Amino acid sequence: MNKIIIGNLKMNTIASEFKVYAMSLATKTKNSKNEIVICPPFTHLTTAKEFLSGSKVKIGAQNIFDEEKGAYTGEISANMIKDAGATYVIIGHSDRRNKFKETDKFINRKIKSALANGLKVVLCVGENWQTRQNKQEYDFVRKQIDDDLKGIYENELESVLIAYEPIWAISTNKTAENRNISKKDINKMVDVIRKEIETQYSTKASEQIKVLYGGSVDLNNYKKILSNEFVDGAIIGGASLNVDNFSVIARETY
Ligand code: PEP
Repeated sequence: MNKIIIGNLKMNTIASEFKVYAMSLATKTKNSKNEIVICPPFTHLTTAKEFLSGSKVKIGAQNIFDEEKGAYTGEISANMIKDAGATYVIIGHSDRRNKFKETDKFINRKIKSALANGLKVVLCVGENWQTRQNKQEYDFVRKQIDDDLKGIYENELESVLIAYEPIWAISTNKTAENRNISKKDINKMVDVIRKEIETQYSTKASEQIKVLYGGSVDLNNYKKILSNEFVDGAIIGGASLNVDNFSVIARETY
């Protein structure tokens, strides 16, 4: 089964490093059947366009602002990233929800702006460790989905992918008390997400929406996670920084 493999480089690489990365990724994944998306920092989007055009690799941005243009110093809009070569955008990543205090209302507006500009949205949802300890994780993620997708029409959902990223399982957040997530836990949450889409939209929408997993996917566990038929793909942070490792995961047949 073809999967969607998304690399999130976060705030890493300078342009010269990314150029080498992009050329290498294009070459190493040329025979892949998967949908591969690389999300570099904004400053490298045009470099990505130059070095990835004609390759299998699509380009994504890590964020956008919700307005089109104006007096928003330091912000970047959906049409700007599209113009720079992005066809995907990550919205609602926990780094942004937590470190930049992004609310579901703001995320909802960003999603609307991205969709209005013809971008595919990778909507990240997921609970923190405390919420899971309190057994509130399903309600928490359901509410994120409801709030983030408020006012979004069913026909627009074909451009929305949902990435379940339990905050506690993301490599940079792991602590000694956390454990690795099990297949059972991933599948249960994927099911909860699909059921919520069914409740809010339709059975057809719940069957068609792509649900990805993210959180410490690396060379040791990627086969196990991606061969799971419940999971349509993965979003990969730390392990995507090494182009050889990311290419191995991206070109595998699942
Ligand atoms: C992420 O931050 O989206 C992520 C999945 O990171 P990592 O793969 O490093 O856990």
